[in-house]
Amino acid sequence: MNEASPVYDVIVVGGGPAGLTAAIALAETGASAALLARLAPYADNRTTALLGASTDLLERLDVWRRCRDQAAALQTMRLVDDTGRLIRAPEVRFSSDEIGLEQFGYNIDNRTLMTALEARAAELSSLTRYDDEAAAIDPQDAVVSVQTRGGQSLSARLVVGADGRQSLSRKAAGIDVMRRDLHQSALTFNIRHSRAHRNISTEFHTPRGPCVFVPLPGSRCSVVWVSATKEAQRLMALDDAELSEAAEKQSHSILGRINVEPRRNLFPLTIESPGQFASHRTALVGESAHVLPPIGAQGLNMGLPDDDDNVDIVGHAMSLGEDPGSPQVLARYQTARRSDVASRMFAIDIANRSLLSDFLPMQSLRAAGLHLIGSFGPLRRLAMREGLAPSWKRVG
Ligand SMILES: Cc1cc2nc3c(=O)[nH]c(=O)nc-3n(C[C@H](O)[C@H](O)[C@H](O)COP(=O)(O)OP(=O)(O)OC[C@H]3O[C@@H](n4cnc5c(N)ncnc54)[C@H](O)[C@@H]3O)c2cc1C
Repeated sequence: MNEASPVYDVIVVGGGPAGLTAAIALAETGASAALLARLAPYADNRTTALLGASTDLLERLDVWRRCRDQAAALQTMRLVDDTGRLIRAPEVRFSSDEIGLEQFGYNIDNRTLMTALEARAAELSSLTRYDDEAAAIDPQDAVVSVQTRGGQSLSARLVVGADGRQSLSRKAAGIDVMRRDLHQSALTFNIRHSRAHRNISTEFHTPRGPCVFVPLPGSRCSVVWVSATKEAQRLMALDDAELSEAAEKQSHSILGRINVEPRRNLFPLTIESPGQFASHRTALVGESAHVLPPIGAQGLNMGLPDDDDNVDIVGHAMSLGEDPGSPQVLARYQTARRSDVASRMFAIDIANRSLLSDFLPMQSLRAAGLHLIGSFGPLRRLAMREGLAPSWKRVG
């Protein structure tokens, strides 16, 4: 049976990290907000390297204090050319103290982060939770109507589409997406190791993709190992002892003896970008708006700025009495996100392609670029700052 419901200012569809953050931030502006998302345990063992701007946002939303003790600081990032090719790049080391920071960010288990987000969301009286999914979304002139799988009808002046890669809200808003299969997959698992990681994240660049060891609290790291899909499937099928040995070999034993922990996951990699970030009373955030291979920790670190910009624009519009889903407000969001997302997607795509390329001039260019960054302090510091936040967004 359909139940009537009030018209919300905003409905957030999807309760991954981008959706939960959007819902908390929007509810905090005083907007009447609904979150339409299943309350379910987080499904995989991934961790997220959150850079400074992301933890700043989580701090402002009173989320970070609930999980920071379970995160490991990332103070140094090492890039190691492990291609074994004739033309190899020198090792590049980025240290946070070079740009006056104690750390670039933190690596945290996604389950821990999600628990902290859920706890904060549950405290907000202006946020109504629907433990359900959107079955149909219909943008109209004055509102967007949302039909849930459980049979409820909801409506709002704005829908925030945080429903990930197969986004129904994106489809309902008529936004096309460009999708490129990379024929690579990422194997994720966590390890215990005998040598201290000293808060150094090390990324080995192999001819099949990067393999990164990212510190976790104690003598543990999370591993994201990107390879051609067949090779990733082979690694996935190894038993624990075999995978431990393979990881130790790939890490050149820098972490000493490695023991893999139970549970691993495999993610096929794509690059996805939509034609627009907003249309028809719908604004996209997180992976409904951009999907990247896991290089340079730019995934959720691009999704949280979507939330940050969206809440700034929507909150400001509502304080002036504007309609949060109007074409003018959506156009402001589109302008705010377009260049940042496009430039980061371009950089990550080029970094990945240059690694896989057998084309000698491309390999030389990559080696020369990394050599320049590694040996020229001002350029290295610029790369670090741009990696953390685009220059036009930084204050001071
Ligand atoms: C191997 C790997 C490593 C990564 N490492 C990092 C990293 O170190 N740093 C980083 O910043 N990023 C990283 N990323 C990227 C990061 O994980 C993603 O950007 C992030 O999880 C996306 O969050 P999201 O909330 O946008 O999407 P999701 O987490 O996919 O959430 C979408 C949610 O919407 C729900 N949903 C879908 N359809 C509906 C519907 N119709 N109604 C209601 N709900 C719906 C889904 O069930 C899901 O819960 C990594 C990614 C991979 C694959």
